[in-house]
Parts: sequence; C-alpha cells; structure tokens
Amino acid sequence: MEDCLFCKIIAGEIPSKKMYEDEEMYIFCDIDPKAPKHYLMVPKAHFARLEEMTDEQAAVLGKCLKKLPSLTGLLGLENGYRLIINQGPDAGQTVFHLHVHILAGKKMAWNPA
Ligand code: AMP
Ligand code: ZN
Repeated sequence: MEDCLFCKIIAGEIPSKKMYEDEEMYIFCDIDPKAPKHYLMVPKAHFARLEEMTDEQAAVLGKCLKKLPSLTGLLGLENGYRLIINQGPDAGQTVFHLHVHILAGKKMAWNPA
C-alpha cells in the first residue's frame, strides 16, 4: 500500500524498534509511548479499519491475538497488558493501517478520558 507509514515500517523502508515478526504480523515500539511499555501489533496485510476487514484478515488478526500470550516473556508483559484498537476520529486514530496497541508496565487507570 503506497504512502502507508506502517507498510513502510514493515517493509523496512522506515526504521522501527522491532520486537517480533512472523509471516503475518510485525510488533514494534510506539514512537510516542503512552505507558512504560507500548508496542504496536500490526497485521502485515494492509487494511485501514475493522469495517473493511475480510474474513481472511479477520482470521489473521485472530491468529495474532492467539500468538500474543506466547510473547509475554519477550515483551515483558507478565504482569498484564491492555490492548486497544483506535477506530475513527473520536478514538483518535491517526494511522490507517489496522493495529493493536499493547500497553503495559504499570497499573493502568480504567477510564481512558
Ligand atoms: P493510532 O493513533 O491508534 O492510529 O496509533 C498510531 C500510533 O502510531 C501512535 O501511537 C503513534 O505514536 C505511533 N507512531 C507514529 N509514527 C510512528 C513511527 N514512525 N514509529 C513508531 N510508532 C509510530
Ligand atoms: Zn499499510
């Protein structure tokens, strides 16, 4: 996908702090962390929003989520973590390649306001 920041990061055209990669996903450190540990889990196949997600992409996203518990040691998530998908303007989505934020490293307040 042309002009997609995360496609460029996955392709290695823009540098990132990679934490994990397999055939279907790429996990790297958020450049502007909102918690002591803040990663982005990005399915490699580009799509912007859940509304556009195909059955195949849904299966891939499910596999990414299923894989995450096996990566807790690597990512330092043993004490728990929060997953967030920002969708659209009210949520503040800024990058239109679907991604899951992984936040960890402190006890987090529940209210996102
Ligand atoms: P969202 O606002 O949910 O679309 O999330 C986009 C995230 O991408 C934000 O948390 C940004 O801090 C992060 N981000 C933007 N540019 C980069 C980059 N070059 N490397 C790593 N993270 C980035
Ligand atoms: Zn993309």
